[in-house]
Amino acid sequence: METIFEKIINRKIPAEILLENEHVIAIKDISPKAPVHILIITKKVIPSFQELKEEDYYLLGEVAKAANKLAKEFNIEKGFRILSNTGTSSGQTIYHLHFHLLGGRDLNAMG
Ligand code: 5GP
Repeated sequence: METIFEKIINRKIPAEILLENEHVIAIKDISPKAPVHILIITKKVIPSFQELKEEDYYLLGEVAKAANKLAKEFNIEKGFRILSNTGTSSGQTIYHLHFHLLGGRDLNAMG
């Protein structure tokens, strides 16, 4: 069964795509928690951060590169948060590795 994010990668369901290369795709979150709320998704299906394998760690560099590029593009480079919910108790709902890039408002309070 494809994850929602695989369906987006495979153009089976629409999304606002902001960046794409062979390793990652970045889309606008459908339910934004901040004025800028972008999801950076690895194309390789890894269920969660905790399940990264030795051969996957280079992908975190690709995520970092995409995040810094997007932060500049969206003018939030002076203050943003990047996070990956890991496991049900963290609020993870989609088991396909992704990072939330949030900015555009005061993020001092968690949430
Ligand atoms: P998680 O809860 O797993 O950390 O994050 C999943 C995120 O995916 C949520 O912020 C949710 O709003 C977003 N999301 C869920 N379904 C879709 C969708 O079909 N399209 C887009 N663009 N975002 C989605």
